[in-house]
Amino acid sequence: MHLATIKELLAGKNLLQEITIKGWVRTFRSNRFIALNDGSTLGTIQCVVDFENFDEELLKKVNTGAALKIKGTLVESQGRGQSVEIQVSDLEILGIADPDEYPIQPKKHSLEFLREKAHLRIRTNTFAAIMRVRSTLSFAIHNYFRENGFNYFHAPIITGSDAEGAGEMFRVTTLDEKNPPLTEDGDVDYKQDFFGKETNLTVSGQLEAEAYAMALGKVYTFGPTFRAENSNTSRHLAEFWMIEPEMAFFDLDANMDLAEDFIKNVISYTLTHCQEDLEFLEKRLLDEEKSKPQAQRSDMALIEKLKFVVDNNFKRVSYTEAIDILKNCKPNKKKQFTYPIEEWGTDLQSEHERYLVEKHFKCPVILFDYPAKIKAFYMRLNEDGKTVRAMDILFPGIGEIVGGSQREERLDVLKEKIKELGIDEKELWWYLDLRKFGTAEHSGFGLGFERLVLFATGMGNIRDVIPFPRTPQNAEF
Ligand code: ATP
Ligand code: MG
Ligand code: MG
Ligand code: MG
Repeated sequence: MHLATIKELLAGKNLLQEITIKGWVRTFRSNRFIALNDGSTLGTIQCVVDFENFDEELLKKVNTGAALKIKGTLVESQGRGQSVEIQVSDLEILGIADPDEYPIQPKKHSLEFLREKAHLRIRTNTFAAIMRVRSTLSFAIHNYFRENGFNYFHAPIITGSDAEGAGEMFRVTTLDEKNPPLTEDGDVDYKQDFFGKETNLTVSGQLEAEAYAMALGKVYTFGPTFRAENSNTSRHLAEFWMIEPEMAFFDLDANMDLAEDFIKNVISYTLTHCQEDLEFLEKRLLDEEKSKPQAQRSDMALIEKLKFVVDNNFKRVSYTEAIDILKNCKPNKKKQFTYPIEEWGTDLQSEHERYLVEKHFKCPVILFDYPAKIKAFYMRLNEDGKTVRAMDILFPGIGEIVGGSQREERLDVLKEKIKELGIDEKELWWYLDLRKFGTAEHSGFGLGFERLVLFATGMGNIRDVIPFPRTPQNAEF
């Protein structure tokens, strides 16, 4: 039995042929028209039943959400709104969905409501569209790297290193709670977490990627990363996916060139391959914006915004220039920033990043050459002795989407830095080996996949672009 997909049928294949399809009911109108969806496409196919020929009890079970097997003939539709429909000859209920209990009814559900139903929300058009875009982006990412000579490398999930030094790690533990190993002071010795060693869930695959780049030349990881940050923003998750390319013999400029080309390429791929879903998401967004005051509406529709990113150069600005802009601006007539920038050396908050991108430059911005003291230990110190070759890419509506740098390749400088920060050199012995044996200039960056999906779909909350979000509130299933 050939099972047709609704996508194939809507494309006009199999016209006037006997076909079998399986899918889920979206609506059932006038005891006659079933709108069926099978996930292959955004749309539904209209299945027409002559109710006189079907058992009444059977038709009572054709409710929103029920799984059906339908046999029939694909014919041109006389009705408006669809070009083809199925004249149903046989209908089988595979699985019922009791309308008194099934929460995903054909009406507009709020995103907050759907977040509570993460296992069912994928049955709505909005989430199906988002997740198809997510899947396509993911493919485009692998495709880009493959075409550009990168090897895909799998970084470990359980690791002893804290790449960012931010101390926001989840412990991995095998400790026997009833009989834990103790320190000399009698406290539980968490340094023996993992069969006698201290380990965590990875916050970034970068350090390991550096090891691989120093042999394979160009590598990338694309995997889950974890941050035990108790933040409740619309941009942070406790578990998110990160894309981390790492390239030997790349300086910071080459790194920025690659990052920009990469983002443009994957968005362009998605524009071509997800047109229908993007149009749907754009329309949804426009409807939503109608209820907002004019000033809060965005000046570009979703697809236009994506095309803008593909077609325009990102603005490259040094941290120092950015500080000058921020010091001298008035973000709006009445209000200054909540966190005023008082001096060179302070880290930017997302309100500053968004000001630069959305108000000042009105395009994606790459900020580079940050003060060493606000960035991680592994970044290449500049000749001025106070800035490092770091870069962040800032996006409209998102803020930081990429964090990257050229890495410190000089053993003596790196050792000095580690000492300054009070990190135990022994913990990084293997990382220092990379500088001892055949060291060379190298660079890389980390792009938060969900932030990219946020941008590509125009959604406003990161919880809505990952299947099962992990935040301090959502880790139930
Ligand atoms: P932010 O300033 O937004 O907290 P970060 O500077 O802490 O981000 P990096 O360590 O630079 O983040 O990580 C690289 C990228 O990973 C970021 O640019 C961002 O796209 C993404 N990212 C970081 N933390 C999170 C998170 N908690 N949830 C989702 N994505 C994240
Ligand atoms: Mg952070
Ligand atoms: Mg940051
Ligand atoms: Mg960062």
